[in-house]
Amino acid sequence: MPASTHPEVMDKLVSLCKRRGFIFQSSEIYGGAGSVWDYGPLGVELKKNLKDAWWNAMVRLRDDVEGLDAAILMHPRTWEASGHVAGFTDPLVDCKACKGRFRADKLEDARCPQKPSKRPGEHEACQLTEPRLFNLMFKTFMGPVEESAATVYLRPETAQGIFVNFLNVQQSSRQKVPFGIAQIGKAFRNEITPGNFIFRTREFEQMEMQFFVEPGTDMEWFERWRADRWAWHRSLGLAEDRLRWHRHEANELAHYARAAFDITYDFGGSLGFQEIEGIHNRSDFDLTQHQQYSGKKLEYFDAPNNKRYVPYVIETSVGADRTTLAVLVNGYREEAVPGEDEGRTVLGLHPTLAPVKAGVFPLTKKDGQPEFAHRLAAELRKAFPVDVDETGSIGKRYRRQDEIGTPFCITVDGQSTGDDTVTIRDRDTLQQVRIGAGQVKEWLLERLVG
Ligand code: ATP
Repeated sequence: MPASTHPEVMDKLVSLCKRRGFIFQSSEIYGGAGSVWDYGPLGVELKKNLKDAWWNAMVRLRDDVEGLDAAILMHPRTWEASGHVAGFTDPLVDCKACKGRFRADKLEDARCPQKPSKRPGEHEACQLTEPRLFNLMFKTFMGPVEESAATVYLRPETAQGIFVNFLNVQQSSRQKVPFGIAQIGKAFRNEITPGNFIFRTREFEQMEMQFFVEPGTDMEWFERWRADRWAWHRSLGLAEDRLRWHRHEANELAHYARAAFDITYDFGGSLGFQEIEGIHNRSDFDLTQHQQYSGKKLEYFDAPNNKRYVPYVIETSVGADRTTLAVLVNGYREEAVPGEDEGRTVLGLHPTLAPVKAGVFPLTKKDGQPEFAHRLAAELRKAFPVDVDETGSIGKRYRRQDEIGTPFCITVDGQSTGDDTVTIRDRDTLQQVRIGAGQVKEWLLERLVG
């Protein structure tokens, strides 16, 4: 992966996320569970806004994509058909000297724990083993008996729930090919080298869409989806110069895949450009496999042309957590404030993603200002989340909101109770306007929509 020219902000983000209630380590009081994270009050709003942005773009604003929410547990044959039982493995190497464990195919990106300036294997003390294959699926048992016949898996991707429901959705929604099925849900992978905060975790959420097309039209649809998905990431405010395509060459492509591109994002520092979304032309592999393993036909009948075929699939697969990390990294900045000694930390989140849309500050605790502020906040809350902050200097209150990405701050002052006006300050330009309290909701709504 190409090196990054952007600074390393991960440590600062991890600490901000904990301090302000975006993301906590899972089971922290017990010392933490390995690479599993919990989203706090602000984090859950941020990730929900991101998922809503995806759902709106992929399902609600289109008439050719249907939504689905399939179960995490599936019939175990699913994972034989999909190839995950036999082949969902990572090659793994251990270092006998430092006891480190690394993915053999990602040694380039790894650091030797004893000598971080070198890669594993480069330091003279390293003793790497031969690669071993390691299955990434979490196993559990269905029912009371822990025996192999009762083994089920926590799904390692959401896609298979879509493939097995292809005909259910197509027939019940009366969709005609080309059409797609989208879902958002948890996936689990027993990753060998998780890390980099929420970048690679063992439990995560995927937002996947499978688009079913007539064979022969697949490359055209592949290109259309590539363009759409790039535009979506840009609409979140991800900087153009931090996004890059990675094309899978023949040696990287799965045997059934006709083409694959990743959208990569530059996370800065040593992580650099990494995949956030994969866009794949999967041919008719998945439906054909499920036909074979289930014995049920998964063909589409094209009535006007009186022909039957197994559709090809264009897949778009993006991680909700990884993209949340990308928008956090993308928005994080530290800067000087003109006329002030103290600088500020800002999360320059896109307004549609920001967990709190406006801070409301009564300047003093008297003259009816707090009551005015609470009345205004109650009205605004009908449309979006707001936060009333009555403590500390106005400067401090601005800093608190800047740090969590709140795009607007409204101040209620001595004039407000007289003429029913307030000031609104913009997080990025720092400009202030004074408008009537009754117009605030409309004014903000106009600026909050994506
Ligand atoms: P990687 O090579 O980084 O492990 P992958 O190629 O296995 O990723 P896919 O199977 O294509 O990933 O999954 C699609 C998307 O799901 C990825 O682009 C990523 O955003 C997300 N994803 C996959 N694995 C994880 C994980 N362990 N933690 C967080 N997100 C993940």
